Amino acid sequence: MGWSGPAADALRVAPGFDLADLDTRSTPGWRGKKRAGRDATAARGRELADLQEKLYAHGRTGGDRSVLLVLQGMDTAGKGGVVRTVLGMVDPQGVALTAFGVPTPEEAAQHYLWRIRRALPAPGTLGVFDRSHYEDVLVVRVEGLVPVETWEPRFEEINAFEREVVESGTTIVKVLLAISPEEQAHRLRRRLERPHKHWKYVPEDIDARERWRDYQQAYQEVLDRTSTEHAPWHVVPADRKWFSRLAVTELVGRALEGLDLDWPVTEVDVESELARLEASEV
Ligand code: ADP
Repeated sequence: MGWSGPAADALRVAPGFDLADLDTRSTPGWRGKKRAGRDATAARGRELADLQEKLYAHGRTGGDRSVLLVLQGMDTAGKGGVVRTVLGMVDPQGVALTAFGVPTPEEAAQHYLWRIRRALPAPGTLGVFDRSHYEDVLVVRVEGLVPVETWEPRFEEINAFEREVVESGTTIVKVLLAISPEEQAHRLRRRLERPHKHWKYVPEDIDARERWRDYQQAYQEVLDRTSTEHAPWHVVPADRKWFSRLAVTELVGRALEGLDLDWPVTEVDVESELARLEASEV
């Protein structure tokens, strides 16, 4: 039971990957059922807390590293649950969550990467993007919000932008949470059937659902054109919530481990400070 190898290897988009062929109920790289998956998520979470504290300490002592989790997915794919799981296990002090919705008038007046740059994680921070600059080649394309001549060059621009971000010390973990249309129907139905979930429901969700194929095509092109060596995409089958939460926890844990950080060495003379503490009178 457990991961049969690095989760990133099982989930990373390989050349020729076809989203249409994905089994969204599968659990690539993971051998085990729900209970074991949940236990593993909790266990990894305890390690994540330690790793993130190390990253925070690194940032506080002049280090330049950070980690950015970029989450994309159709409505109800479970982005919120993944964010709660991952961020619920670490110290809120060192994290920065940004959700990107329809651009505000201020944002819309700027280049589409303007609001993204402003939200990049500071050194020592674990940043999470709930939606991202990819909306500018997804919803914008599918809904025809700008002409093709405008969105088409964005793939190259995004690759160059992400390279710059990586070179400045940020590890980018890109995750597409992939659900099936059947699972989405089930989740939307549950939302509509439960009054305390009505606040989450917007009629536009069904409009987007009706363009499912167009979105799949747009996502496929995102995977084909922006899964780079410096910032590869991972596709996480998300019909089983316990698996998507486990997988993203694992991917973030690995990214933090990959920074290979040590606890900063203090310049304080610990012995003499202890002596001062003992001698201090209150
Ligand atoms: P969520 O659906 O993630 O819970 P919201 O209800 O705030 O969050 O929805 C965000 C909406 O904003 C989505 O419909 C998304 O397509 C849209 N959006 C995000 N970025 C852009 C963008 N750059 N241009 C147009 N719409 C966008």
